[in-house]
Amino acid sequence: MLLRKALELMEKYSNCPDCGSDRLGNGKGTLNIDEDGFIRTCNCGFSIKINSKGEMQK
Ligand SMILES: [Zn+2]
Repeated sequence: MLLRKALELMEKYSNCPDCGSDRLGNGKGTLNIDEDGFIRTCNCGFSIKINSKGEMQK
């Protein structure tokens, strides 16, 4: 995915929209970016996947 888009998403989802946590790693949450898209999860159960076109995936 485009770096610009990735940075935009990182900024938007650095804090979990559900619980506000900014913790990553150690089972607290994950943030993954690769050519296929962006995935942010949180240990509160929040999870979002956005593809390389910026579309939210189920
Ligand atoms: Zn959360």
